[in-house]
Amino acid sequence: MDFFDDLTAAVQRDGARRGVRVAGDEWQKFMSRVEKTVPAAPPETAAPTENTFAVQETYFSEPSAMPPVQEQPEPASGIGICRDIPQDWAGLHQAVMNCRNCQLCNNRNNAVFGEGNRSARLMFVGEGPGAEEDASGRPFVGPAGQLLDKMINAMHLSREDVYIANIVKCRPPGNRNPADDEAAACIGYLEQQIKLVQPEVIVLLGGTALRFLLKMDGITRCRGRWFEYNNIAVMPTFHPAFLLRKAESKREAWHDLKLVMARLNIPL
Ligand code: URA
Repeated sequence: MDFFDDLTAAVQRDGARRGVRVAGDEWQKFMSRVEKTVPAAPPETAAPTENTFAVQETYFSEPSAMPPVQEQPEPASGIGICRDIPQDWAGLHQAVMNCRNCQLCNNRNNAVFGEGNRSARLMFVGEGPGAEEDASGRPFVGPAGQLLDKMINAMHLSREDVYIANIVKCRPPGNRNPADDEAAACIGYLEQQIKLVQPEVIVLLGGTALRFLLKMDGITRCRGRWFEYNNIAVMPTFHPAFLLRKAESKREAWHDLKLVMARLNIPL
């Protein structure tokens, strides 16, 4: 069975379990193209306390009681470092919203903090916001995000079950890769998000996430293999934006995700 058949069967089984019929041609879209629409923001609710993959009725986004973002008069000019990282969610969120540690802040419409289940067993780490994410302030809501949603669903999970964050929180101009100094200025936020979520598994989406979290190069060589970050199992795989350009690599990505499912005891 190839990746797509495998994936279609998994999604159809999941649909049957939930009483929803999933037509095969729906899933052809996964292999071909995604609509360029930004999904509606989920309702703001409080974070859960239990650590579960069960589909939650509520969406675990940032608390609505977040303090207001304060304007900072001085524009950033260049290299910064990620310092004074707050250890709690509210402080961390505010620090990211106010961050001027590197030049990426100068062109942002929104910093993209990250979102999802703050007690998730599984965390996805991408590269940085694109145009849609910069416009909405939410991670992975553009075409790559729609494919990521499908990858998550194929694992019998939903966005509400996992936590999603990026290496850099502000959009690099023209969607270029983040520079070393930009990643260095931002990585402390992600490190603290990982400390707070304490996932069992982190999936690194693409070479940039691999490079800046594990300090390793070569996503093609490293994908599909287990690594460790602060005692957390890490699985690098291809970035969904890459998979949109190279559909035949979805087979390998699905292989990697199945390893993650096995590790988390999620039946295929
Ligand atoms: N690509 C990423 O790496 N992150 C996002 O949030 C969106 C696209």
